[in-house]
Amino acid sequence: MPARTLAGLLGQDDVSVYLRRIVASGRYGNAYLFHGPSGVGKGTAALAFARAALCDHVPGAAPVTTRTLEASPSLFGDAVAVPSPASKSPLDPPGDDACGACPACLKVAGLMHPDMHFLFPFSGEEKQMESADSAYHETLQSLREDPLHYFQYDKAASIRISQTRELTKSLAYRTYEASRRLVVVRDCDRMREDQFSTLLKSIEEPGARTVWVLTTSRLSRVPATIRSRCQRVRFSPLSEALIRDTLIEDAHVEPDEARMVAALSGGSLARAIATRDEDPRKQRDAALALLGPALKGDAATLWEACRATMNFGRTGREALRRMIEYHELWLRDVLRARYGAPEETFVNFDKVYAIRELAARVDAREIRRRLTVLEEALRSIDGNITADLTLFSALARVGGRRLGEGAWPAHTAGRWDY
Ligand SMILES: [Zn+2]
Repeated sequence: MPARTLAGLLGQDDVSVYLRRIVASGRYGNAYLFHGPSGVGKGTAALAFARAALCDHVPGAAPVTTRTLEASPSLFGDAVAVPSPASKSPLDPPGDDACGACPACLKVAGLMHPDMHFLFPFSGEEKQMESADSAYHETLQSLREDPLHYFQYDKAASIRISQTRELTKSLAYRTYEASRRLVVVRDCDRMREDQFSTLLKSIEEPGARTVWVLTTSRLSRVPATIRSRCQRVRFSPLSEALIRDTLIEDAHVEPDEARMVAALSGGSLARAIATRDEDPRKQRDAALALLGPALKGDAATLWEACRATMNFGRTGREALRRMIEYHELWLRDVLRARYGAPEETFVNFDKVYAIRELAARVDAREIRRRLTVLEEALRSIDGNITADLTLFSALARVGGRRLGEGAWPAHTAGRWDY
């Protein structure tokens, strides 16, 4: 969603106001660190900020060509050209945001402004330069064309050393068209130690006209030295209602489905968009079907079913997360039913009868116990786990079985300590 403006950021009003104030003042810090949960618009905001900062109509960004280079002491000196009122476009540019119409805005929207650098992680071998290069350009193309593009990486994805090297080289030169340079590094926590130190050097360089915008959803993995030199901008999870409405309006998802996908999104629009084409009810039913053998203590059937369900290859982690979350949403509805909440607050509103029936049968303490088991499983997902075993273990415990109890399949023995 590269063409979004700061004013049009979804659900991040404080951030939008803060960034527009910076753009309006024309006074930028050396580096900003956008942090918060994944999929809430940090990357989109970073690009929107870059676009606003480079727009021909905001203070201090005027193209080099409109200035008399000889007259100004340096590119970074006081002689910053502020566009005269006469040069204002008929669209009446906002001055604190991208106008959307000037050449600079169009170039940034097309991700081809020479003074904007955009780095993001991707997977694959560092040595395979050619495939890395094409993967980079493919992503850019998709970002240009698909307004609902979302970034998805596997665990090993990283920011290329070749990319940071190339960037460092170009920082030594003057800017091409604007008076400042914007470097956006998405998911900067996926850099290596030495990449961070190179970055640190550039951030600290006095007089540099480069504005760094780093994003991360894993703040603790960003070295403290970087964190302390950046102005931090915190992003919040998006509301379920906002995600639901965006799914309906922009992704044309059916309202009932949108509601369930939004409930499963955990406040992440990217996640909701990633799962929009899947049938959430069918998936939920498949997830809940595993409870049968778990409650009966039928370990062999449960194990086989978990293995069959978790056969998702590289997406195993995300699939596992969703399987567990369907169970959570279900149990939360049961709790709602127990406490007499109105039916329209249920996420599984198509299963009201079954939910009420379970609520009448199982007490709240037991439901909470099951929820705790599921929460633990969710927390373990980012660790070194095996998807099928984690699901098996969690559901066995939801069903009331402790590990090591009863006749579990022999081939899972000894593999439960994760
Ligand atoms: Zn503009």
